[in-house]
Amino acid sequence: MTFSSLSQLECPRCGTVHDADQIIGLCPCGSPLLARYDVQSVKLTKDELAARPPDLWRYHELLPVRSAANVVTLGEGMTPLLPLPRYGREVGVDRLLMKDEGLIPTGTFKARGAAVGVSRAYEVGVRKIAMPTNGNAGSAWATYAARAGMEALIAMPIAAPEICRREVKVVGARLHLVDGLIGDAAAYIREQPGYFDVSTLKEPYRIEGKKTMGLEIAEQLDWQLPDVILYPTGGGVGIIGIWKALLELQELGWVDGPLPRLVAVQSTGCAPIVQAYENGLPESEPWPDAKTVAFGITVPKALGDFLVLQAIADTGGCAVAVDDEAILAELHRLAQLEGAFICPEGAATFAAVRRLRESGWIQPGEQVVALNTGLGLKYPETVPLT
Ligand SMILES: *Cc1c(COP(=O)(O)O)cnc(C)c1O
Ligand SMILES: [Zn+2]
Repeated sequence: MTFSSLSQLECPRCGTVHDADQIIGLCPCGSPLLARYDVQSVKLTKDELAARPPDLWRYHELLPVRSAANVVTLGEGMTPLLPLPRYGREVGVDRLLMKDEGLIPTGTFKARGAAVGVSRAYEVGVRKIAMPTNGNAGSAWATYAARAGMEALIAMPIAAPEICRREVKVVGARLHLVDGLIGDAAAYIREQPGYFDVSTLKEPYRIEGKKTMGLEIAEQLDWQLPDVILYPTGGGVGIIGIWKALLELQELGWVDGPLPRLVAVQSTGCAPIVQAYENGLPESEPWPDAKTVAFGITVPKALGDFLVLQAIADTGGCAVAVDDEAILAELHRLAQLEGAFICPEGAATFAAVRRLRESGWIQPGEQVVALNTGLGLKYPETVPLT
């Protein structure tokens, strides 16, 4: 049996097909590329899968790395899917679950994209990577680059969480700070020759790693999909990935029925996708003066915005913005009621659960999965000392 069933790369905008076994970034038309698999050739059974080690590589047939020898891993994946009985009762959603991505190397789900992205980049011959980041992606990619023995150059805003700077430094990556936003960091990276640019969605495989959140949710619920999945959306890779995972599982014949309604959650301080959703537009407009405590979702214009909007439309989902005050209040409430110290991005999804239940968009008996994308410990300043 082959390790990966990867067949080709496909452009979701112009439809062009590209050879997957080359170093490639965007489609020449400017769109991100999506990995496609020969799903029919996958002979895996659910029982065989259940017997594999509890990390994301258990899904290797649906991942792009062709040889097990190229897998770069720190044990990432199979994070807990926790019931939240007390908090759920308070917000009126009894079947509320949290997929807790705090329990993963580097403390955020960015490790998934980095593990798969770095492994595949190494496999096709890349040895030097560079990326602009709001922090967490930089720490994850620098960490996995070190694990792979690759060089990494990371550019991030000075305002990014200090811990991410320290993480990048400790693994020996080059760190460049910019006095500005992620777009300014991206401009710097574009000027650096000799590096493969692994910016969000500029290479095709980060999304494949993030996709495993969707695969795990399905497996952890014994292949009975939930009614709603909420995701804190910045670049949108996670929500596109979860959508892609669910479609591939449908193709595999492992899940049926309607897909969960996918909800993109943003902060009112940076809500381009919510704005596009509300105006019925296929793409977002750049958000001016983006600023929110949920730093990981401060993305004024995402390359994959049109795919996020398609994922929402395709599943009957929606997009909601919540303000920083609600985010911080929810972060504390969840910690008090469930003992879970989550990140502000994750807290945004819980603020959205509360809002959507109040408005009736979420029905009382529905099963709802909220993504906590990172560890609260990475953001100690969200808790005042006095
Ligand atoms: C990057 C990040 C997000 C947003 O992820 P996308 O997949 O790019 O939308 C959410 N939460 C945290 C903690 C992040 O670091
Ligand atoms: Zn194209």
